[in-house]
Amino acid sequence: MTGNSASPHRHALRYSIRHAELDWRVDDGDVEAPFSTAYDDVYFSRQDGREETRFVFIDNNDLPRRLAAWRARRPFTIGETGFGTGLNMLCAWACFDEHAQAEARLHLVSTEKHPLTREALERAWRSWPQLASRAASLIDQWPPAVAGIHRLQLDARVTLDLHFGDAADCLSRLDGQVDAWFLDGFAPSKNPDMWRPELFEAMAAASRPEATFATFTCAGFVRRGLAAAGFRWRKVPGFGRKREMLRGERDESARPASEAISARAATPWFQPPPARPAAHVAVIGAGIAGTSVAAALARRGSRVTLVDRTGIAAGASGNPQAALYVKLAIEPNLQSRFYLAALLYTQRWLARLDPQRRWWSDCGLLQLTGDARGIERQRRFLNLYDLPSTVVSASEAADATSLAGIDLDQAALYYPQAGWVDPVALCHHLAATPGVETHQAELRSLRETESGWQLQLGQSPLRVDQVVFATGHASHDWLDGLPLQSVRGQVSTLALPQQTESGNGPTLERVLCAEGYVMPARDGMLTFGATFSPNDADTTLRESDHRRNLDELARTAPALARQFAGINPASCGGRASVRAASPDKTPYAGPLPDVARWRSNYAALGKDAKRRFDCPGSHYPGLWITTAHGSRGMVSAPLCAELIASRLYDEPMPLERELVDHLHPGRRLIADLIRGR
Ligand code: SAM
Repeated sequence: MTGNSASPHRHALRYSIRHAELDWRVDDGDVEAPFSTAYDDVYFSRQDGREETRFVFIDNNDLPRRLAAWRARRPFTIGETGFGTGLNMLCAWACFDEHAQAEARLHLVSTEKHPLTREALERAWRSWPQLASRAASLIDQWPPAVAGIHRLQLDARVTLDLHFGDAADCLSRLDGQVDAWFLDGFAPSKNPDMWRPELFEAMAAASRPEATFATFTCAGFVRRGLAAAGFRWRKVPGFGRKREMLRGERDESARPASEAISARAATPWFQPPPARPAAHVAVIGAGIAGTSVAAALARRGSRVTLVDRTGIAAGASGNPQAALYVKLAIEPNLQSRFYLAALLYTQRWLARLDPQRRWWSDCGLLQLTGDARGIERQRRFLNLYDLPSTVVSASEAADATSLAGIDLDQAALYYPQAGWVDPVALCHHLAATPGVETHQAELRSLRETESGWQLQLGQSPLRVDQVVFATGHASHDWLDGLPLQSVRGQVSTLALPQQTESGNGPTLERVLCAEGYVMPARDGMLTFGATFSPNDADTTLRESDHRRNLDELARTAPALARQFAGINPASCGGRASVRAASPDKTPYAGPLPDVARWRSNYAALGKDAKRRFDCPGSHYPGLWITTAHGSRGMVSAPLCAELIASRLYDEPMPLERELVDHLHPGRRLIADLIRGR
């Protein structure tokens, strides 16, 4: 993504990026390989691409030895410029499997400005049958060409973050640190734009103190750029006919003392707290936010005690079906960038968790457009975002009707991979992750100890290293000072009428969303809703709310509602629950700020919003929160869980730095101080 924070149009980014322009070339041995017509260069050597990768990138970063010796609880992290077909990264994965200990993990971060299409990727990988199973994991999860970070879980121990966009741009937004760099990309003479000083500076800023790099090129301006950014380099013999290449490491003496906070120099309150042990973590709240964070931590090796006073998915995550639905602002902003990333992430994550679609469905979702003004807004939205049609596209009323399977009188936005989830089944599935232990109890108190936290759970005490609150609207109890609103929502359910002699009634095939929503029926039951009542925390069912839901159903899907004409609202089933919302409608996900200290440390913002501060944000050590997911938790919670688990394990973050900060639970404190509240 391009744009900088000083620009008034900084969020008016185009999300789609251009695919690679390719030609396929075949060598004497009948091996086919992609060739970039845009850059007039090869992706890899057709004769011995794997050998070249091993020689240049793997051995010259000393990976076999370093991976064998890796004992840290954080993953070994490799950064790359130019993902291409992924040959380098998949070879690094194979090297990791061969050399690393069973407990070790690997994190791959790779940037790519012009990703291959899925078809091209499949075709390229036919050249390397030895890596077929690894390639299949990559191809299965291959993201659409949308700018930003796409996190793929390649296997239980290996994560790949694909940063789609220009390398220097992406790496300057990276919130994470790298142990070894693969400096790839087309030859500097053919692609000078990539090999620019900003790239080397961003690499240096994202390097661990002992980081190394290797690159096939020896070009003078690359050597000078690396040295100026603070890397030591030396020439070593190159691969095959290439006489020389470069390898080197971060020069610690070149690192400015203030660098640790320089990326957040203007916003030191968002500086993350130092990493702490996470051997045993308590997660309070077993809805989608809590169970997804529990599973994310357990996968990384934590023992997790998942605590809930009423059980799994008993609160706002207990509805029969939840829509995978985002309502993106017409003009892109930080919030819409987050929700779009979250939607794409959650779709991939669900497909891995439940490939058979037992408890979720990617049947597609239609967001109805409404009147002429709505159509104009839709047109602007599509123009501004410029997303691929595999993510969202416009659908005229006739097309929307044929997609929905019922008559619709409105145009729509169509999200083909969205759909619905059975959140109760999902939460149970996540709570059953090995390493997670569920405990039904009320959290009565918590006290900081020398090494962590002491909780009182009902009658039993529990000592843990860290605590994550995923307590929805009940987070008020623990979040003194963070603005949070309770919003009651009631869904209604109705059994579909029995089949008649003239056949079945209309069958809805996709999720429909307008002011309300209606799901494709499940086991003969239609779920629709939901009401939205701010500052109301009552969970008793109300007939008046069923009436409202029926009225909304009649507006959204008259063809369905007709079947229930004249029905008494009291005959609806349903469920009411309370969701939590922040004032800006973005979730809170991150470390828990010490509110009183923030207010005193940054009080001067009230007089001067541009004032610079030295002191980083003060956080309760080892306390985290994921809440305020509103009615979009099914989309937002899984990525927020990854964000928290990544921070606890000192890994690269799954979102760009500005989006991580946008989710920070302390952001409203700063906004309020600036406004003098
Ligand atoms: N590492 C790749 C592999 O294992 O297949 C081969 C990389 S290929 C030689 C170079 C890649 O760099 C291409 O995929 C190209 O699209 C990408 N690229 C070129 N310029 C870029 C830039 N400015 N930012 C990010 N990627 C870029």
